[in-house]
Amino acid sequence: MKCIINRRAQFSASHRYWLPELSEAENVQLFGSCTQFPGHGHNYVLFVSLIGDLDEYGMVQNLSEVKKVIKQGVTSQLDYSYLNDVWSEFQQTLPTTENIARVIWQRLAPHLPLARIQLFEHPELWADYQGNGMEAFLTISTHFSAAHRLAHPDLSYEENCEIYGKCARPNGHGHNYHMEVTVKGEIHPRTGMIVDLGALNKVIEDYVVEPFDHTFLNKDIPYFAQVVPTAENIVVHIRQLLQQPIQELGAQLYKVKLIESPNNSCEVYCSEPISYSATEQASEPVLTSV
Ligand SMILES: [Zn+2]
Ligand SMILES: [Zn+2]
Repeated sequence: MKCIINRRAQFSASHRYWLPELSEAENVQLFGSCTQFPGHGHNYVLFVSLIGDLDEYGMVQNLSEVKKVIKQGVTSQLDYSYLNDVWSEFQQTLPTTENIARVIWQRLAPHLPLARIQLFEHPELWADYQGNGMEAFLTISTHFSAAHRLAHPDLSYEENCEIYGKCARPNGHGHNYHMEVTVKGEIHPRTGMIVDLGALNKVIEDYVVEPFDHTFLNKDIPYFAQVVPTAENIVVHIRQLLQQPIQELGAQLYKVKLIESPNNSCEVYCSEPISYSATEQASEPVLTSV
Protein backbone atom coordinates (compact mmCIF):
# COMPACT_ATOMS: atom_id res chain seq x y z
CA MET A 1 0.00 0.00 0.00
CA LYS A 2 1.32 3.41 -0.99
CA CYS A 3 1.64 6.12 1.63
CA ILE A 4 2.43 9.84 1.21
CA ILE A 5 4.61 11.59 3.77
CA ASN A 6 5.15 15.35 4.00
CA ARG A 7 8.26 17.11 5.23
CA ARG A 8 8.33 20.84 6.02
CA ALA A 9 11.36 23.09 5.56
CA GLN A 10 11.90 26.81 5.21
CA PHE A 11 14.27 29.35 3.75
CA SER A 12 14.47 33.12 3.39
CA ALA A 13 15.57 34.51 0.06
CA SER A 14 15.31 37.55 -2.18
CA HIS A 15 14.50 37.93 -5.85
CA ARG A 16 13.76 40.53 -8.48
CA TYR A 17 11.50 40.26 -11.52
CA TRP A 18 13.40 41.91 -14.35
CA LEU A 19 14.10 40.77 -17.91
CA PRO A 20 17.07 42.63 -19.44
CA GLU A 21 15.78 42.19 -23.00
CA LEU A 22 12.71 44.29 -22.16
CA SER A 23 12.45 48.04 -21.60
CA GLU A 24 11.79 49.43 -18.13
CA ALA A 25 8.18 50.21 -19.12
CA GLU A 26 7.66 46.65 -20.38
CA ASN A 27 9.13 45.19 -17.19
CA VAL A 28 6.88 47.36 -15.02
CA GLN A 29 3.89 46.42 -17.16
CA LEU A 30 4.62 42.71 -16.58
CA PHE A 31 5.86 42.65 -13.00
CA GLY A 32 4.75 45.89 -11.28
CA SER A 33 6.62 46.73 -8.11
CA CYS A 34 8.48 43.38 -8.19
CA THR A 35 10.80 45.10 -10.71
CA GLN A 36 12.24 47.43 -8.06
CA PHE A 37 16.01 47.38 -7.63
CA PRO A 38 17.68 45.61 -5.85
CA GLY A 39 14.80 43.21 -5.16
CA HIS A 40 12.76 42.09 -2.18
CA GLY A 41 12.48 38.94 -0.08
CA HIS A 42 10.18 36.31 1.33
CA ASN A 43 10.20 33.77 4.12
CA TYR A 44 9.39 30.70 2.05
CA VAL A 45 7.85 27.58 3.57
CA LEU A 46 8.37 24.37 1.62
CA PHE A 47 6.47 21.08 1.89
CA VAL A 48 8.07 18.10 0.20
CA SER A 49 5.65 15.18 -0.25
CA LEU A 50 7.02 11.68 -0.88
CA ILE A 51 5.15 8.58 -1.97
CA GLY A 52 6.11 4.96 -1.50
CA ASP A 53 5.51 1.61 0.12
CA LEU A 54 6.39 1.12 3.76
CA ASP A 55 9.76 -0.47 4.39
CA GLU A 56 10.53 -3.10 7.03
CA TYR A 57 10.93 -0.29 9.60
CA GLY A 58 7.44 1.09 8.90
CA MET A 59 8.62 4.12 6.94
CA VAL A 60 8.30 5.43 3.37
CA GLN A 61 11.76 6.96 3.77
CA ASN A 62 13.99 7.51 6.74
CA LEU A 63 13.11 11.07 7.77
CA SER A 64 16.61 11.96 8.92
CA GLU A 65 17.84 11.04 5.44
CA VAL A 66 15.01 13.06 3.83
CA LYS A 67 15.87 16.03 6.02
CA LYS A 68 19.53 15.80 4.99
CA VAL A 69 18.73 15.61 1.26
CA ILE A 70 16.38 18.64 1.44
CA LYS A 71 18.95 20.63 3.39
CA GLN A 72 21.90 19.79 1.13
CA GLY A 73 19.99 19.99 -2.15
CA VAL A 74 17.72 22.96 -1.45
CA THR A 75 17.56 24.94 1.77
CA SER A 76 21.28 25.35 2.53
CA GLN A 77 21.75 26.66 -1.04
CA LEU A 78 18.68 28.94 -1.15
CA ASP A 79 18.62 30.26 2.41
CA TYR A 80 19.77 33.92 2.53
CA SER A 81 20.44 33.85 -1.22
CA TYR A 82 19.55 36.09 -4.13
CA LEU A 83 17.47 33.58 -6.09
CA ASN A 84 18.05 35.09 -9.56
CA ASP A 85 21.75 34.28 -9.31
CA VAL A 86 21.97 31.26 -7.01
CA TRP A 87 20.76 28.58 -9.46
CA SER A 88 21.38 28.81 -13.22
CA GLU A 89 17.76 27.68 -13.89
CA PHE A 90 16.59 31.06 -12.60
CA GLN A 91 18.65 32.97 -15.14
CA GLN A 92 16.58 31.36 -17.87
CA THR A 93 13.21 31.41 -16.08
CA LEU A 94 12.52 33.95 -13.31
CA PRO A 95 12.22 32.62 -9.73
CA THR A 96 8.46 33.00 -9.27
CA THR A 97 6.87 30.84 -6.58
CA GLU A 98 5.60 28.34 -9.18
CA ASN A 99 8.95 28.16 -10.95
CA ILE A 100 10.93 27.76 -7.70
CA ALA A 101 8.61 24.83 -6.85
CA ARG A 102 9.29 23.28 -10.29
CA VAL A 103 13.07 23.65 -10.02
CA ILE A 104 13.11 22.28 -6.46
CA TRP A 105 11.25 19.23 -7.84
CA GLN A 106 13.86 18.82 -10.59
CA ARG A 107 16.71 19.04 -8.09
CA LEU A 108 15.17 16.62 -5.56
CA ALA A 109 13.61 14.11 -7.97
CA PRO A 110 16.84 12.12 -8.55
CA HIS A 111 17.13 11.54 -4.78
CA LEU A 112 13.57 11.26 -3.42
CA PRO A 113 10.29 9.57 -4.55
CA LEU A 114 8.43 12.89 -4.95
CA ALA A 115 4.64 13.17 -5.03
CA ARG A 116 4.33 16.95 -4.76
CA ILE A 117 6.26 20.14 -4.03
CA GLN A 118 4.27 22.86 -2.28
CA LEU A 119 5.88 26.26 -1.74
CA PHE A 120 4.37 29.09 0.29
CA GLU A 121 5.64 32.58 -0.55
CA HIS A 122 3.48 33.78 2.34
CA PRO A 123 0.47 32.26 4.10
CA GLU A 124 -1.90 33.62 1.45
CA LEU A 125 0.00 32.64 -1.70
CA TRP A 126 1.42 29.25 -2.60
CA ALA A 127 2.31 27.04 -5.56
CA ASP A 128 1.94 23.31 -6.10
CA TYR A 129 4.00 21.32 -8.59
CA GLN A 130 3.53 17.62 -9.34
CA GLY A 131 6.18 16.83 -11.93
CA ASN A 132 4.15 17.49 -15.09
CA GLY A 133 6.45 19.47 -17.40
CA MET A 134 5.72 23.18 -17.08
CA GLU A 135 2.28 22.69 -15.48
CA ALA A 136 1.84 24.22 -12.03
CA PHE A 137 -0.89 25.37 -9.65
CA LEU A 138 -1.10 28.68 -7.85
CA THR A 139 -3.43 29.37 -4.91
CA ILE A 140 -4.51 32.73 -3.56
CA SER A 141 -6.18 32.79 -0.17
CA THR A 142 -8.44 35.72 0.67
CA HIS A 143 -11.53 36.50 2.73
CA PHE A 144 -14.84 38.34 2.90
CA SER A 145 -17.45 38.82 5.60
CA ALA A 146 -21.11 38.30 4.84
CA ALA A 147 -24.45 37.42 6.41
CA HIS A 148 -26.92 34.86 5.19
CA ARG A 149 -30.07 33.02 6.10
CA LEU A 150 -30.71 29.42 5.12
CA ALA A 151 -34.37 29.09 4.20
CA HIS A 152 -36.01 27.84 1.04
CA PRO A 153 -38.48 30.46 -0.24
CA ASP A 154 -41.13 27.83 -1.08
CA LEU A 155 -41.18 26.27 2.40
CA SER A 156 -42.85 27.39 5.63
CA TYR A 157 -40.84 28.72 8.55
CA GLU A 158 -41.41 25.46 10.43
CA GLU A 159 -40.27 23.36 7.50
CA ASN A 160 -37.14 25.51 7.06
CA CYS A 161 -36.34 25.20 10.78
CA GLU A 162 -36.69 21.46 10.42
CA ILE A 163 -34.11 21.40 7.57
CA TYR A 164 -31.71 24.23 8.42
CA GLY A 165 -32.03 24.48 12.22
CA LYS A 166 -30.76 27.74 13.77
CA CYS A 167 -29.56 28.89 10.32
CA ALA A 168 -33.23 29.45 9.37
CA ARG A 169 -33.80 32.11 12.05
CA PRO A 170 -35.52 35.06 10.35
CA ASN A 171 -32.87 37.77 10.67
CA GLY A 172 -29.83 35.78 9.53
CA HIS A 173 -26.30 35.48 10.91
CA GLY A 174 -22.80 36.06 9.55
CA HIS A 175 -19.42 34.49 8.83
CA ASN A 176 -15.89 35.57 8.06
CA TYR A 177 -15.50 33.47 4.95
CA HIS A 178 -12.03 32.38 3.88
CA MET A 179 -11.69 31.52 0.23
CA GLU A 180 -8.88 29.70 -1.58
CA VAL A 181 -8.79 30.03 -5.37
CA THR A 182 -6.46 27.61 -7.19
CA VAL A 183 -5.56 28.12 -10.84
CA LYS A 184 -3.67 25.77 -13.15
CA GLY A 185 -1.44 26.82 -16.03
CA GLU A 186 1.82 26.45 -17.89
CA ILE A 187 4.89 28.21 -16.50
CA HIS A 188 6.12 30.73 -19.07
CA PRO A 189 9.71 29.76 -19.99
CA ARG A 190 10.98 33.32 -19.51
CA THR A 191 8.73 35.13 -16.97
CA GLY A 192 8.23 32.01 -14.81
CA MET A 193 4.56 32.89 -14.36
CA ILE A 194 1.47 30.77 -15.05
CA VAL A 195 -0.70 33.86 -14.81
CA ASP A 196 -0.33 37.58 -14.16
CA LEU A 197 -0.69 37.59 -10.38
CA GLY A 198 -1.87 41.21 -10.20
CA ALA A 199 -4.55 40.53 -12.80
CA LEU A 200 -5.63 37.34 -10.99
CA ASN A 201 -5.91 39.21 -7.70
CA LYS A 202 -7.98 41.86 -9.43
CA VAL A 203 -10.37 39.28 -10.94
CA ILE A 204 -10.94 37.67 -7.51
CA GLU A 205 -11.41 41.09 -5.94
CA ASP A 206 -13.73 42.44 -8.67
CA TYR A 207 -15.91 39.36 -9.19
CA VAL A 208 -16.17 38.01 -5.63
CA VAL A 209 -14.61 39.89 -2.72
CA GLU A 210 -15.86 43.39 -3.52
CA PRO A 211 -19.43 42.37 -4.45
CA PHE A 212 -19.77 39.84 -1.57
CA ASP A 213 -18.00 41.61 1.29
CA HIS A 214 -20.23 43.14 3.98
CA THR A 215 -23.47 42.05 2.32
CA PHE A 216 -26.53 40.08 3.29
CA LEU A 217 -26.07 37.45 0.58
CA ASN A 218 -29.77 36.53 0.25
CA LYS A 219 -30.76 40.10 -0.61
CA ASP A 220 -27.64 41.76 -2.02
CA ILE A 221 -26.53 39.06 -4.47
CA PRO A 222 -29.31 38.47 -7.04
CA TYR A 223 -28.26 34.81 -7.54
CA PHE A 224 -29.23 34.03 -3.94
CA ALA A 225 -32.77 35.43 -4.23
CA GLN A 226 -33.86 31.93 -5.29
CA VAL A 227 -30.82 29.79 -4.40
CA VAL A 228 -30.27 29.11 -0.68
CA PRO A 229 -26.78 30.48 0.16
CA THR A 230 -25.36 27.38 1.82
CA ALA A 231 -21.55 27.15 1.72
CA GLU A 232 -21.95 24.65 -1.13
CA ASN A 233 -24.14 26.98 -3.20
CA ILE A 234 -21.83 29.93 -2.51
CA VAL A 235 -18.76 28.01 -3.68
CA VAL A 236 -20.56 26.79 -6.83
CA HIS A 237 -21.56 30.38 -7.63
CA ILE A 238 -18.03 31.69 -7.02
CA ARG A 239 -16.74 29.08 -9.43
CA GLN A 240 -19.24 30.23 -12.07
CA LEU A 241 -18.18 33.85 -11.55
CA LEU A 242 -14.43 33.17 -11.80
CA GLN A 243 -14.13 30.51 -14.48
CA GLN A 244 -14.44 32.71 -17.58
CA PRO A 245 -12.38 35.72 -16.41
CA ILE A 246 -9.53 33.42 -15.32
CA GLN A 247 -9.63 31.67 -18.68
CA GLU A 248 -9.29 35.09 -20.31
CA LEU A 249 -6.05 35.57 -18.32
CA GLY A 250 -4.66 32.43 -19.99
CA ALA A 251 -4.99 30.12 -16.97
CA GLN A 252 -7.63 27.68 -15.82
CA LEU A 253 -9.63 27.77 -12.61
CA TYR A 254 -8.85 24.44 -10.92
CA LYS A 255 -10.48 24.59 -7.50
CA VAL A 256 -12.36 26.91 -5.17
CA LYS A 257 -12.45 26.19 -1.45
CA LEU A 258 -14.70 28.10 0.92
CA ILE A 259 -14.02 27.92 4.64
CA GLU A 260 -17.16 29.05 6.45
CA SER A 261 -15.94 28.34 9.96
CA PRO A 262 -13.11 26.34 11.53
CA ASN A 263 -15.51 23.39 11.56
CA ASN A 264 -17.00 23.67 8.12
CA SER A 265 -15.49 24.03 4.65
CA CYS A 266 -16.44 23.11 1.14
CA GLU A 267 -14.63 22.79 -2.20
CA VAL A 268 -15.45 22.40 -5.89
CA TYR A 269 -13.14 21.42 -8.73
CA CYS A 270 -13.32 22.42 -12.36
CA SER A 271 -12.80 20.03 -15.20
CA GLU A 272 -11.73 21.16 -18.67
CA PRO A 273 -13.35 24.33 -20.03
CA ILE A 274 -17.05 23.53 -20.09
CA SER A 275 -20.30 25.30 -20.79
CA TYR A 276 -22.32 26.85 -18.01
CA SER A 277 -25.03 24.15 -18.01
CA ALA A 278 -22.56 21.27 -18.20
CA THR A 279 -20.72 22.83 -15.26
CA GLU A 280 -23.81 22.55 -13.12
CA GLN A 281 -23.95 18.79 -13.54
CA ALA A 282 -20.25 18.13 -13.31
CA SER A 283 -19.83 20.02 -10.08
CA GLU A 284 -20.80 18.03 -7.05
CA PRO A 285 -19.51 20.05 -4.13
CA VAL A 286 -17.32 18.12 -1.75
CA LEU A 287 -18.08 18.88 1.88
CA THR A 288 -15.21 18.51 4.26
CA SER A 289 -15.72 18.72 7.97
CA VAL A 290 -12.63 19.48 9.95
ZN1 LIG B 1 8.46 38.34 -4.47
ZN1 LIG C 1 -24.11 30.30 8.32
